Amino acid sequence: MKYTFEPPAIPSVAVVGSDARFPVRRIFCVGRNYADHAREMGAADQADGREPPFFFMKPADAIVTGDGELEVAYPPLTKNLHHEIEMVVALGGGGANVAVGDALGLVFGYAVGLDLTRRDIQGRAKEKGHPWDMGKGFDQSAVLGPIRPVGSAGHPGQGRIWLGINGELRQDGDLSAMMWKVADIIANLSTSVRLAPGDLIYSGTPAGVGPLQRGDVLTAGIEGVGELRARIV
Ligand code: MN
Repeated sequence: MKYTFEPPAIPSVAVVGSDARFPVRRIFCVGRNYADHAREMGAADQADGREPPFFFMKPADAIVTGDGELEVAYPPLTKNLHHEIEMVVALGGGGANVAVGDALGLVFGYAVGLDLTRRDIQGRAKEKGHPWDMGKGFDQSAVLGPIRPVGSAGHPGQGRIWLGINGELRQDGDLSAMMWKVADIIANLSTSVRLAPGDLIYSGTPAGVGPLQRGDVLTAGIEGVGELRARIV
């Protein structure tokens, strides 16, 4: 194959207990999947569970991953960079119109992720009915720890999901509070697009989102999945 220039490397993520890396294809994210977070964002309809899940995306190369403390550059054009701790679902299989009962069979594993958000840009987009892309899909907006395969993680349906800044706890929820469970999310999303191996799904954040400053050190974890540490630089 002849290219006009050298193609970039495929973004990839470490896998717990393996020397093989997980190649990332696309990054889907669920909006407002915990009622307490939907309420803090002023979205009562979503918090009542009357609305179906909705999705937005980040580019695959927005991922920040690696060993030890991750460095995340404070992005341009914002004065209100927010943290959102989320369980990330990594797909090893794919398909369209997947039945809820078959959906977990597509999952390769789970990871701890941060859906970093330029809240001020997202807020202006909401006001104007504009796309969320520049509020959500900027460079280094998808922080991600190693993927724990289903063989050791199982399919976590409950367990603590938390985030601290400089040692102070800011988000502290439980996976059982997800309004749309992992199988529901996969089934719903697969009616809209044909899912494929390598796809990641950020499954939403509990309440307590808030601003980050340069120099902040984030520690975050999900019971049974893992922990990560990141510094804003
Ligand atoms: Mn989110």
